[in-house]
Amino acid sequence: MTKPDAPTMHNAAADFLTLTRPDDWHLHLRDGAMMADVLPHTARQFARAIVMPNLKPPVTTTAMAAAYRDRILAALPADMRFTPLMVLYLTDNTPAEEIRRAVESGFVHGVKLYPAGATTNSDAGVTDINRCMPALEAMQELGLPLLVHGEVTDADIDVFDREAVFIDRVLQPLRRSMPALKIVFEHITTRDAAHYVRDAEGPVAATITAHHLLYNRNAIFKGGIRPHYYCLPILKREEHRLALIDAATSGSPRFFLGTDSAPHPTGLKEHACGCAGCYTALHAMELYAQAFDEAGALDRLEAFASFHGPDFYGLPRNTDQVRLERTPWTVPQELTMADTTLTPLDAGSTLQWKLR
Ligand SMILES: [Zn+2]
Repeated sequence: MTKPDAPTMHNAAADFLTLTRPDDWHLHLRDGAMMADVLPHTARQFARAIVMPNLKPPVTTTAMAAAYRDRILAALPADMRFTPLMVLYLTDNTPAEEIRRAVESGFVHGVKLYPAGATTNSDAGVTDINRCMPALEAMQELGLPLLVHGEVTDADIDVFDREAVFIDRVLQPLRRSMPALKIVFEHITTRDAAHYVRDAEGPVAATITAHHLLYNRNAIFKGGIRPHYYCLPILKREEHRLALIDAATSGSPRFFLGTDSAPHPTGLKEHACGCAGCYTALHAMELYAQAFDEAGALDRLEAFASFHGPDFYGLPRNTDQVRLERTPWTVPQELTMADTTLTPLDAGSTLQWKLR
């Protein structure tokens, strides 16, 4: 690590928390009108974000990433500052030259592995990791991180077991063959993944969402089917949530903040075949503060949210600050966007912390 973590300013009596400005290391911004609607939420909370490339069509080349980055910056309100960190979408055919172009660009910071069919817009994803070896070897050589959606997609594997099976079938063999490849195991949801990352040798880290820290799978079924708590990887048992809390609050530099905030119109969430994803960009730091507070670990929030991510990616830490105050407030029921509505996670609930 570049420098020792500064102590978090935390005054329990005054109930405020001053943090180095955080970043979001896993975000879905989409494109077009939706992107313009959700971007200010993220830019208010975070200085930078790793922007997922699962558009239609997916962002598979540096040229496409440059165009997407331009659209994001054009949609940013003039009075806001925000740096999008771009990601390429790995396919069976990504050539090593594309990896070199990505690194030379200076704005591409990772390559995302979606097993084909794993989540929203992942049909172009990887069918067999062995087909990606030229790209992966170039990434290992050049130090460009591989970001993995860590679930197998076989229909015969139980949806609650797909992350653990991915570790055995894909991640372990990959890490044996490429021990120096930097890997971020995205949005981990199980004790298996938390312990794997904690104990693995070599450059491996993981992002953890606020919703996986706050909820177990009961949230999806409480009093009826609750589609706004449906995401992929799906919420797991309480023992797994507790393992994620342990990991996030452990102080290990391998674990950092990634919201996986995913804007789906309310009508496509409340649907016979509802989309997977939770919208948390509006109130991400408030949700993480709630989770860390409930765990009695607010003093660990800054390192998780603001230090471990840039350190792993080899980027400078932010130097300005944000302030959280203990002020109960109610999450809006619905957000009216340009041509649709979004329902934020925990709509109608009271949260204890507010970002100022
Ligand atoms: Zn995601």
